[in-house]
Amino acid sequence: MSKKAALLSDFHWLMDVLQFIDVGLVIIDRNYEVQLWNAFMQNHSAKEPDEILGKNLFQCFPELPEAWFKRKTESVFTLHNSAFTTWEQRPWLFRFPSYRPITSIADTMYQNTTMIPLKDTGGKVDHLCIIIYDVTEAAVNRLQNEAANAELKRLSRTDGLTGLLNRKAWESELLKELERCTRYNHASSLVMFDIDHFKSINDGHGHPAGDEVIRQTAAIAQKCIRTVDTAGRYGGEEFAIILPDTDADGALKLANRIRKTIENTAAVYEGTEISYTVSLGVCAYHKKLKDSTQWIDCADKGLYQAKENGRNKAFIHFPS
Ligand code: GH3
Ligand code: MG
Ligand code: MG
Repeated sequence: MSKKAALLSDFHWLMDVLQFIDVGLVIIDRNYEVQLWNAFMQNHSAKEPDEILGKNLFQCFPELPEAWFKRKTESVFTLHNSAFTTWEQRPWLFRFPSYRPITSIADTMYQNTTMIPLKDTGGKVDHLCIIIYDVTEAAVNRLQNEAANAELKRLSRTDGLTGLLNRKAWESELLKELERCTRYNHASSLVMFDIDHFKSINDGHGHPAGDEVIRQTAAIAQKCIRTVDTAGRYGGEEFAIILPDTDADGALKLANRIRKTIENTAAVYEGTEISYTVSLGVCAYHKKLKDSTQWIDCADKGLYQAKENGRNKAFIHFPS
């Protein structure tokens, strides 16, 4: 075989490789007209080369982000360096359906993209090659892991019976609130409350009925507060609420609203109505408070006063 024939044969092989390699290859010129459209691109776009070659890329694919794409390609054309885009930055460049039956997360193929400058024999760059990698599987795995981790984190912060924050998570919110108050001297209040004579509810109606009373109490508290407030299940039948930007009087009003709503709403367990009440303690932030434990203790003292004064009451306690 002559040298020229051997070269041509090599070239032929190379073209076959480019055609059938399992990544997308597109070559465009300065006018964004398509010069190469390999089998990967044909298969996933369902567009044959004769529909695409010599045509303007943006006319063929109106979904391409033209301004972004031109900014990227201009830098490749002028600086002669490659440009990379990962699926995290932009999930896809060409909207191709994902055929991998993984989950409904991936209706569209996730893509990493590389653009490389193509020099002609004189070193001039009038063409560039876009390489499209199908990274759907890796992306879906990552997204599923992230979703599972977020759910685990949520569950680790949530009380299973009531859906409120558990004690640990609520206490960490309280620490943040105390820091905010200390730094900016903001108003903020704490409400601690406890179901009255809960033991007799358990004894009289059974533990599952007691659970229903706890669930209802949490639901009422959650309904009474604003979205910026943070309610938590502090203990068995004890609850705690952080009320940002609320002074003691405002917190007492909220405490009484919860108290009255509970007084007027019997819990129903297996057809039996269970009427019950709660006692509440309020403590507003004061710069005297040296830590969050003291803040909780102070609200707890208000709660104790409410119990001492006959229950179904709300008391403010001031830090000393
Ligand atoms: P007080 O009015 O002074 O608050 O009286 P109380 O009976 O409510 O107070 P106490 O703290 O002595 O009783 C709380 C009871 O709550 C004791 C415990 O068995 C019960 N308890 C704690 N956690 C749960 C729970 O998750 N479900 C149920 N059903 N009962 C619980
Ligand atoms: Mg208690
Ligand atoms: Mg109690």
